[in-house]
Amino acid sequence: MADEIPPKNKPGILDKLIGHLLGNNKQNFQEVQLDAALIDEIIQIARESHPNEFVALLEGKVKDKILKIDGLVFLPGETSNQGAVMKTFMKPMVTGTVGSVHSHPGYNASPSPADLYFFSKNGLFHLIIAEPYDEYSIRAYDTRGREAEYMIV
Ligand SMILES: [Zn+2]
Repeated sequence: MADEIPPKNKPGILDKLIGHLLGNNKQNFQEVQLDAALIDEIIQIARESHPNEFVALLEGKVKDKILKIDGLVFLPGETSNQGAVMKTFMKPMVTGTVGSVHSHPGYNASPSPADLYFFSKNGLFHLIIAEPYDEYSIRAYDTRGREAEYMIV
């Protein structure tokens, strides 16, 4: 019968662009360190954005097997009521982005199916911050959507 490849299995131009921005080449690291001031900034932005989601990219690099994250890269039109993560292809060309952070209005910091798909395609490390938007309501995930450990430094 039909032997066409399902369109959903073909990498689209947007997938390629996001891959280019966040890096498809997975680097090895054993530990993640998040800058304490960055956590404060994420908390503040999540609160100010509420009830909207916000999304940003995480800036950092891997050195000596440590993934050190110390900056945010904001995207035009980063807040919306739905699908904030999927809008990240609107971002300007930047280097040194290693993952993403976005907020979940509500108390569930678990990744949605769209989040899991995004994580699997992009970057190394991802954060979701839910209400009440404090350092205890932040959860971290690896590219497979598994909860990840990190240190605040
Ligand atoms: Zn989400």
